[in-house]
Amino acid sequence: MQPGLFQMKTAKDLFAKLEWEFENFRKDPSNPWIAFNFFVTAEHLPDWINRKDLKGNHSILRICSHLANSGKHYKSNKKSVVDAFRNGVVDEDVCENGVFEEWLTIRLPEEEANTMKTSEIDGIPLAEKVVEWWRNYFRDNDKCSCGSGLKYKKCCGN
Ligand SMILES: [Zn+2]
Repeated sequence: MQPGLFQMKTAKDLFAKLEWEFENFRKDPSNPWIAFNFFVTAEHLPDWINRKDLKGNHSILRICSHLANSGKHYKSNKKSVVDAFRNGVVDEDVCENGVFEEWLTIRLPEEEANTMKTSEIDGIPLAEKVVEWWRNYFRDNDKCSCGSGLKYKKCCGN
């Protein structure tokens, strides 16, 4: 049983949804709707913690933004995905159907490729990195389990 909308109040609730979508994505890795939903949810997480600024410093969050915001406009070939990343623009001549089939393997633009240490990544490993990034974020910013009252990253996680 999934929680209703009104039980989704905090960023961690949204993260739970992201983890659930990741499990569905893993079971059905070529399903474009599930993939798209995953990245849309991921795209909203910085808003829910009021930290849109995080995207400036983290490739993985920018990649989620690109996929969530422009994915439906990508042409179904890899070159245009790279171009869309690079230019932040979309073509008029768009392909609305089947677009996610291609970007289930995603070629990253140079800047993101450098920080991600790969020029190509499949949808599932990318989604896995996204989940891991957010899991670490919440762990680091939660109060440390030692009871000091400090955030984990400023305490035992330092
Ligand atoms: Zn501690």
